[in-house]
Amino acid sequence: MLLGHFALGFAAKRLAPRTPLSLLLTAPFLLDLVFPLLVLLGWEQMRVLPGESGFLTLELVNMPYSHSLLAAVGWAVLMALPYFAWRRDGRGALILAVLVISHWVLDAVTHRPDVPVLLSGGPKVGLGLWYSLLGTMVIEGSLFAGCVWLYASTTRAADRSGRIALGSLVGTLVVMYLGFVFGPPPPSAESVAYLMLIGWVLPFWARWVERHRPETSGILRIQDPRLSEHKSSHSE
Ligand SMILES: [Zn+2]
Repeated sequence: MLLGHFALGFAAKRLAPRTPLSLLLTAPFLLDLVFPLLVLLGWEQMRVLPGESGFLTLELVNMPYSHSLLAAVGWAVLMALPYFAWRRDGRGALILAVLVISHWVLDAVTHRPDVPVLLSGGPKVGLGLWYSLLGTMVIEGSLFAGCVWLYASTTRAADRSGRIALGSLVGTLVVMYLGFVFGPPPPSAESVAYLMLIGWVLPFWARWVERHRPETSGILRIQDPRLSEHKSSHSE
């Protein structure tokens, strides 16, 4: 999945209003940010399958450190603990951890059985939603649309940039998704890995969005004064 991962990150803003969108979008995509680095280092492997198309173009041969369930739990802890130490936001930390692990769950639903559970050996799972191009696009597309709508209604564009930043981010994700599904097969696994590195731009793009889209649920406004009071009484 691609859009499905980001969908959950957008939706999570409502549950974790204090957590930066940059982190909420990074968490569910973290395994796919790590994966291309490991492929380029030669520690994990994928292959382009000749004759396949759509979602099935890539054969994910070996990805224990980025995509096994065990590794996902490890990455979740690696993301949630520093965040908690930084922000003292237990709810946000928990949601980040769940988002990281959600990547494994969504991949297990969509992939062919190539998603590992353990670091070596053990079963590989995958329910194979990807075998149905239309089914995947309908489910993933509606999930994405619904969650972006949820985010847009949880926040408000403070100025024109607030609309442009979100619109361009959503548009770029959709174009990349359609390019992946309907574009020509990639020349090599290495080229796919390099292309996936674009994902690292995302947290910065999300920061731009967030700077121009304050959260509107009221939770921030109610919580913030109490929190700052709490903090100052602790530091005294
Ligand atoms: Zn993945």
